[in-house]
Amino acid sequence: MSRDLIGFRVVAVHAHPDDEALFTGGALSSLARRGADVLVVTCTLGEEGEVIGERYQHLVNDHADQLGGFRIHELNEALGFLGVRGEFLGGAGKYRDSGMAGSPASKNPKAFVNSGERAVDDVVAVFERERPHLVITYDPNGGYGHPDHIRAHEITHAAAKQVDIPRILWSARLRSELEAMIADQTPATWTRPEPGELDAVDTVDTWVELDDTTYAAKTAAMRAHATQIWIADGSVSNTNPHAAFATAPDPTVVTYALSNLIAQPILRREHYCVGAGLPLEHGADITSGIPR
Ligand SMILES: [Zn+2]
Repeated sequence: MSRDLIGFRVVAVHAHPDDEALFTGGALSSLARRGADVLVVTCTLGEEGEVIGERYQHLVNDHADQLGGFRIHELNEALGFLGVRGEFLGGAGKYRDSGMAGSPASKNPKAFVNSGERAVDDVVAVFERERPHLVITYDPNGGYGHPDHIRAHEITHAAAKQVDIPRILWSARLRSELEAMIADQTPATWTRPEPGELDAVDTVDTWVELDDTTYAAKTAAMRAHATQIWIADGSVSNTNPHAAFATAPDPTVVTYALSNLIAQPILRREHYCVGAGLPLEHGADITSGIPR
């Protein structure tokens, strides 16, 4: 892979540890391998998450409430696999995971959904310091409707009104490619999604092809978030010592599940839409047309 992006700066704004790998791990790894300076800004510690595997079950919010600290460790490991830098918005622990829509966690004054202008100012500070050529975040629905993802979208776009950003990309999954790669065999305790059940879009502007090295980096980064993601490739970890196996129509496609145990494919492409700034020709490189 050529080092054609030395001097090119990228910032990805994500809601929780694991989103950087799930949504954008392929693009971030690929950009970094091409020489770009890539920073992942994570807005919360993911304190309201559930936990896969028995070993760390009691870390959750209504017991030890230590999951956020644990997920810092998982995130750091994932960022290492992707070869990128990371920081928490405003410093680790400033904004708390708001939980799923309507959950009591959203009433916490520290919840990210209640961050107001403070969070916008924090993103402005990152943008002023980093001067990114390219920013990556979610669409207005946050990809799948999580309030913290929607908030990450809002503050990114609000900050971009104060600091010029050449292009903002929204991560997406193209429904046709997603549904073609749903596993045909899944572990007994997992479920196959119904058509239309997984969040996806019907059109995208472009995509990043994940070569074998990039695909492996993304999969390893996802695996590092073992309290959140279970990879059905037979691997085990200290957090989740249970091996799971799945097969997809493309034998090189790996299947994973979140704590809801719905089988999902790790696609060989990551899809993107232009959210603001310079347009892209359909299928063009995500960095194309940005003055350096
Ligand atoms: Zn998330």
